[in-house]
Amino acid sequence: MQTSQFFDENLLNKYNTAGPRYTSYPTALEFHNEFSQSDLIQAIEQSPNRELSLYVHIPFCHSLCYYCGCNKVITRHRSKADTYLEYLAEEIASRAPLFKDYTIKQLHWGGGTPSFLTHEQITKLVNLLKQKFNFAEHVEMSIEIDPREIELDLAEHLYSLGFNRLSIGVQDIDEKVQKTINRVQSTAFIETFIAHAKRIGFKSINIDLIYGLPHQTMDTFSRTLDKAKEMDVDRISLFSYAHLPSRFAAQRKLRDEWLPSVNQKFALMRLAIEKLCDYSYEFIGMDHFAKPNDELSVAQKNGTLHRNFQGYTTKGDCDLLGLGVSSISDIGHVYSQNVKDLKTYYHAIETEKHALEKGVSLTKDDVIRGEVIRELMCNLFLNKQTINEKYAIDFDQYFADDLPLLNTFIDDGLVSNNSETIQINQKARLLVRNICMTFDIYMKKHINQQRFSRVI
Ligand code: SF4
Repeated sequence: MQTSQFFDENLLNKYNTAGPRYTSYPTALEFHNEFSQSDLIQAIEQSPNRELSLYVHIPFCHSLCYYCGCNKVITRHRSKADTYLEYLAEEIASRAPLFKDYTIKQLHWGGGTPSFLTHEQITKLVNLLKQKFNFAEHVEMSIEIDPREIELDLAEHLYSLGFNRLSIGVQDIDEKVQKTINRVQSTAFIETFIAHAKRIGFKSINIDLIYGLPHQTMDTFSRTLDKAKEMDVDRISLFSYAHLPSRFAAQRKLRDEWLPSVNQKFALMRLAIEKLCDYSYEFIGMDHFAKPNDELSVAQKNGTLHRNFQGYTTKGDCDLLGLGVSSISDIGHVYSQNVKDLKTYYHAIETEKHALEKGVSLTKDDVIRGEVIRELMCNLFLNKQTINEKYAIDFDQYFADDLPLLNTFIDDGLVSNNSETIQINQKARLLVRNICMTFDIYMKKHINQQRFSRVI
């Protein structure tokens, strides 16, 4: 892949504004408390989908990584997870009957740290899910792993329960960076763990990397990227560190002067994209890389890539049910979210048997705009005729107020728009979020509120 085309500094500086990552449209900012359990039940009944993706949130972590912006609970006491699993079991018992005519195609455990759980706790939860829901014969089962505080035999254990995909938080291998972010971990162990998991039979292994961390330099991050290549994983997620100390208290431990400047951060991102593409990974969407034969790469080539709350996926025809504190669901034409605080979650389960806090029912306009944004985010291409037929509209007429906002991108050679298609050119790859904002009717409301991280 010709990567130099992605890095026109003038254009990137011109459009480097804050924008949503569009894991949903409308974004979570539009969720509201009037959304109720009966809205969710109605959405399940009306949804055309009968395949389900399950997300389970395990909020606990052994120690605090200072860069973290996730919803988590730091504790050394594994027994806390026993209590959590009891409440989760109640939530599962009350939710599962609503999905009795669905088939589970995908299961993902995220956090926090799902590998915080003991082998026994993991077994218990998998068995419970399999008992309550109808699992398809071939299910994609993935779990996020924190490589600290685990043993090699975790891989066997997960595999024996049906997990076939792993996602491992590597972030950066440099010792000084690791100490500063309070996440010291052994690269040698990670390499051994990955090799071991592959030998056992894991089908797909992903690692997460972060650029923009304190004390990262071109040299140190180059070594991290080289090590990622040696690990020979199937997918790599490359995240930008968003320093928002006013929102995330732990980030206040990271002093501004330790962070790379805007230009240095840009150079780190460029280094990563260039190296990973040189290593023959396909650049997927904005921040993922996959081997050419990986199903994400194949889906991108075929124009069938989708995006949901977990990022890019090939399972676009599944509804998504989130279980556990703070988890998000995407069912038919609604999004909903559970309460974010653990105590409130326990109280809600005790009193209501579910922990739904807020959500949003999509209007027809939301659905249309959501599809337009998703297509552009995933496939950089939109066939207007497909949208016209599906929603009985005339695209150019329907978006008459929005399309002029594309002109600046068209003038800069980033987008082509004709009567049949909209195409985002490769050189606008890093600006897809900005281009999609053209079709976001809620954006005007948030544009000056700095509610989103910068695109780069
Ligand atoms: S980065 Fe992951 S492991 Fe670290 S505190 Fe956040 S959720 Fe926990």
